[in-house]
Parts: sequence; C-alpha cells; structure tokens
Amino acid sequence: DIIGKRCYQVFQDRDTPCPGCPTVTALESGDIEHAVMHHSSSKGMERETWWDGYAVPIKDNTGRIVSCIQMSRDITERKQAEETLRETNQKLEDAISRANNMTVEAEKANHAKSRFLANMSHEIRTPMNAVIGMAGLLLDTELDVEQRRYAESVHSNGEVLLGLISDILDFSKIEAGRLELEDIDFDLQNLLKNLAGALSLRAQEKGIELMYDIEPATPVHLRGDPGRLRQVIGNLVENAIKFTEKGEVFVRIKAQEEGRRSLSSCPNDTQSDSKAAHLVFSVIDTGIGIPSEQIDGIFEVFNQVDSSLSRSSGGTGLGLSISKKLAGLMGGDIWAESILGKGSTFTFTVPFTVTAKPEKPFEEMPPLDLNRTRVLVVDDNATNRLILNRILAEYGALVTEVESAIRGLFELKHAADSGNPFRLAIIDCRMPGMDGFELVRRIHEEQDDVRAVKIIMLTSENRDGDLKKCRDLEITSYLIKPVNKKDLLEAITFILGGKTASPPEKNPTVKMEKSILARALNILLVEDSIDNRLLIQAYLKKTACRVETVENGAIAVEKFKTGNFDIVLMDVQMPVMDGYTATREIRHWEKENQRTETPILALTAYALADDFEKSLAAGCTDHLSKPIKKENLLRAIEKYTGNT
Ligand code: ADP
Repeated sequence: DIIGKRCYQVFQDRDTPCPGCPTVTALESGDIEHAVMHHSSSKGMERETWWDGYAVPIKDNTGRIVSCIQMSRDITERKQAEETLRETNQKLEDAISRANNMTVEAEKANHAKSRFLANMSHEIRTPMNAVIGMAGLLLDTELDVEQRRYAESVHSNGEVLLGLISDILDFSKIEAGRLELEDIDFDLQNLLKNLAGALSLRAQEKGIELMYDIEPATPVHLRGDPGRLRQVIGNLVENAIKFTEKGEVFVRIKAQEEGRRSLSSCPNDTQSDSKAAHLVFSVIDTGIGIPSEQIDGIFEVFNQVDSSLSRSSGGTGLGLSISKKLAGLMGGDIWAESILGKGSTFTFTVPFTVTAKPEKPFEEMPPLDLNRTRVLVVDDNATNRLILNRILAEYGALVTEVESAIRGLFELKHAADSGNPFRLAIIDCRMPGMDGFELVRRIHEEQDDVRAVKIIMLTSENRDGDLKKCRDLEITSYLIKPVNKKDLLEAITFILGGKTASPPEKNPTVKMEKSILARALNILLVEDSIDNRLLIQAYLKKTACRVETVENGAIAVEKFKTGNFDIVLMDVQMPVMDGYTATREIRHWEKENQRTETPILALTAYALADDFEKSLAAGCTDHLSKPIKKENLLRAIEKYTGNT
C-alpha cells in the first residue's frame, strides 16, 4: 500500500525523505498506473546523484496493489547538463537585457550628444555670423594693405571654423542616425556647373585645372538628395585641390556599365516608367598621392596621412568619413586608388531614380547644329581637350585638337591654305610657351581667311587682367573655366550667329541690391544680439529698405500689429518670447483679422532638419541658417516679397 508514502518509502528503504518526491496521494484503480520516482540521493556517496525511475504497481485479482516493480536509471549527468544549460540561458538573458539597457542608454546618450552639438553649434554660429559678416563688410571698405591682410585673415579663418562646426555637426547627426536624406528632382548638369563655379577659384589660385565631364548617355534628370551629393563631390574635389600642387583635378561622371548595373527598373517606385541609374563619380587628381599602406584607413575618422600638412591646409580629418557615410546612406559605396607622387582617384557610386519628364523644366541646352563645322581646340591640357572635343563632336563638329599655340597657328594656316579653313577656334589663354593671347595677336596679323576664324577664349576669372586682355584684343566671347556644356554651346551659338556673348555676371549681389532698391520694403527685424542687428542693417544699407529693429518676440508681435511690414526677419532664440512663439502669435492675429500672411523668415543658428521643420510648423515662411550671407539674405527677401 503506497498511499500516503513518499516515493523513497515505496521504492527504497531509506530514512531521509527526499524533498523532491511527492507523496502518493491517490491510487484508486486506474488513477495511477505507475509512480515516478522524481529523484533520490544515493546514500553514503559524496556527490548527489539523480535517478529517473518508475514503478508499476502489481495488483491482485481484486485490484488491490500488493507490490510494485521499480526501474530506475542514473540521470545525474543529464541533470547537470540541464542545470548548466539553464544557468547559461540565464546568463545569456541577463547579458541581452543588459545589452538592451545599454542600447537604450547609448541611444539616450547619442541623442543628448547630438542635441548638445546642435546647441553648441547654435552658440558658436551666432557669434560667427557677426565675425564673418563684419569682416566681410570691413573688406568692402577702404583699407590699407596691412589692414586688409588682417581682415582677410579674420574672414577666412572664420570660414574655416564654420566648416569645422558643420563637419562635426554632420558627423554627429549621422552617428546618431538623425540625418535624413531628401528625395527631390534635380538636374545633375546644373549641380555640377554650380559646384565647379564655386570651387574653381581655389583651383585657379593654385594654378590647377579643374574640369568635369558627364559622359554621353548618362542620365542627368534625377531624383535623390542633391545637397548631400554636392557635399560628397565637393569634399572630394576640395581634397583633390588641397593635395595637388601641379596638374589637374578632373571630375568624371558616368552611368555604371551595362551588364553590371546600368539602367534597371526602380524597385521602390510605383511609377512603372521610373528607372534607377547607378552613377559612378570619380575625382581624379595629379597630386601627392597616398601611400598604399594607408589607403585602407583613409576613410576612418581623423585619419590623415600627414597631419601637419592637413592641418596647415585647414583639414579636420572628418571629410572622408562623412563622405563614406553619406555615400552609404544614399545606397552607394566609396573607395580610393592612388599612386604615391602621381595622384589619387576617389570613386563613389550612388543609385538615383531617373526622372524621364521633369515636372519643372530644367535648364535646357540651346539647340545647335555644328554639322561638319571645322573647330580647332588649342589647349595644353589633354583632359580639357577631350571634354571639349566630345561636346563638340556630339553636335556634329569636325574637331582638331592641338596642345600648343604654335601648333594651333600652324593648323589654322594650313587649313586656310588648303581651302578648308576653321570656322571656330577655342583657345586656352594660359599655355606654356606662347600663350592664348599671343596666339590671337598672331592670328590677327595673318591673311584674311586665317583671320576670319571666330575665337572663344578660355580664361580664369581671378587672373589679373585676363578679361581686360580679351577686351583689348576684341575677343568678344570668353568662357571662365571650368567650362560647362551649356555656356560653351551658348557661346558658340552667339559667336557663329554673329551676336556677342554677354559677359558673365561678375557680382550678382550688386544686381540684387539694385533690384531690391527698386521698391522700398518695410522690414521688421527681430533679433536680440546687437551685433547681428547691426550686421543685417549693414547688409541692407545700400537698399531703399526701411528696417525697424526690436529685440524680442513680445515687442515684435506688438510692433507687427501696428506697422505695415512687407517681411519679418525673425531670430529664433530670444529672451522674453522666442521667435517660434512670436510667429505663432502673428499668424493667429493675421487669421483673426483676416489679413494675408506676411512672409516671416526665421534666422536660426540651428542646422538640424527637425529644427527647420519646427520653424515651418510655427508658421515661418522659410528659414535662413546662420551665419547669414548677404547674398542669401537679399535673395530670400527678393524671393518672398516678389521683388524681382
Ligand atoms: P582632411 O580634413 O584632413 O582633408 P579628410 O577625411 O577629407 O580630412 O581626408 C583625410 C586624409 O586623407 C587627408 O588628411 C589626406 O592625408 C588624405 N587625402 C584625402 N584626399 C586626398 C587626395 N586627393 N590626395 C592625397 N591625400 C588625400
């Protein structure tokens, strides 16, 4: 009879009850067929052993249990293994939970860091706005040589410092996963034209050729993030210029070859006719190069081959790692190849959606037919000749390339003698030996059929007197390098059509000031910093605008109600009432009084995307990030007051 007994009592003759064994409580017929011995310790042994067993009750013919058969086996090892597994699992769970906590903590810390940097950036950008702006204004005044040198130094170092802050902010945004990419339509041709225009000055100062070429059949109407693309190309080109003393920097763009990726259906796009193009951007220089053992680490943060050289040229060591992250975020890749002493090639790829029909018409190429027109290209730089040749050939021209002025003169005379003269000569003004100007002078001395050739001169804007020399030689068509396709085609259209190409707008700001002068605007400037108030007033000094200044949002709201303002320039961080609150109050008042919305431009030192959204959400029309450049401010005022 085993009812009320513990298993050891049933199965073994032991005195000590085993704690794990249940007491057999019910044993009515059929209830329990066997009793399981959960575990027992073997007596007299040092180590605890575990046993798994069962007992089969033996019943007499009335059904009463009279005995039982017990079978058991040693499961100590299994138990130990189970125990180890349980402990390991527990440790794993603990580790995962600790890791989760750490991730949450790290995310919090990252967020805090990113916020901190945004705030720091604000704190630094605000005074930088005044420093760079004031130095710029100072440079516009009469200064002696020494004073000018000092002011220029303040200005350029301010710009360097600002670049550094932007790099750090970008880097922390990427690290914190807070960098959002845009997805908008853009024209690659325009992007490159503007970028090359902005960077050409540095290249010209160093006497380096800066060129770019978009290979034929490369789609240029794209959708993606043009700002970030520009940042990556810009960074690579700036580096290339920085680390090249002689020769050239060449930006080459093409679609990835057929059979690799090329044009394919864009998987994420619902429009069936959208295609994706994987573009390959290469920035090729003839600079100092990178030692092969260092090339792999070049994209890591703060990795510089020669830190003293990099520092003297204003480097932070963040540019390439930011570029790598941006290329990665855009779905592409980046790598570098280099031969020490010969030059480097940085290449990156980015997939874009090709927009077949742009909603807004992009800049169109002028229609031009050069069918079998003989054109002579005179340039010592082979890459430049190649680019010009390709553009001209695309339009049907018959191109002859030569690398020197002497050879150019020879070709011109030879062509005229054989009765098939050149109609057009595109001449680089700066060449070793005889330069382009001398070549033109010599052409003018030649017989009529040589002299009849139309000339387009390739010049560098900042070189003293290039443009003056062009005028003296009555060269009416000149292009400032790096040459872009559209300007070249326009210049050819003008010169072959007999018209004069309009000289490039040398100072767009002047034009803008004149245009704002056309109508005296009533401007409300809300800004707590005296320096920044002074700066903005100085920017608008030469215009006919009337600027009323107040130092916080609360006064601004009251002033706004009583004045009749065309536009409000609203700082964001201010004591008493901040710019967002003031903007909301103004919008509320306008609504109540059924007034049309007055443009409000937020002037913020923040550069994070959500801060931009915050200012739009508050009702601001647009947002200008400090330090505010005169040209940007005037352009924005012009844009939002319809003052063109
Ligand atoms: P930095 O601000 O120093 O230019 P980057 O991250 O942009 O930082 O570049 C890191 C380093 O890579 C540079 O300091 C330089 O040593 C090397 N480097 C980058 N581009 C080139 C180049 N075109 N030619 C030679 N070295 C380069």
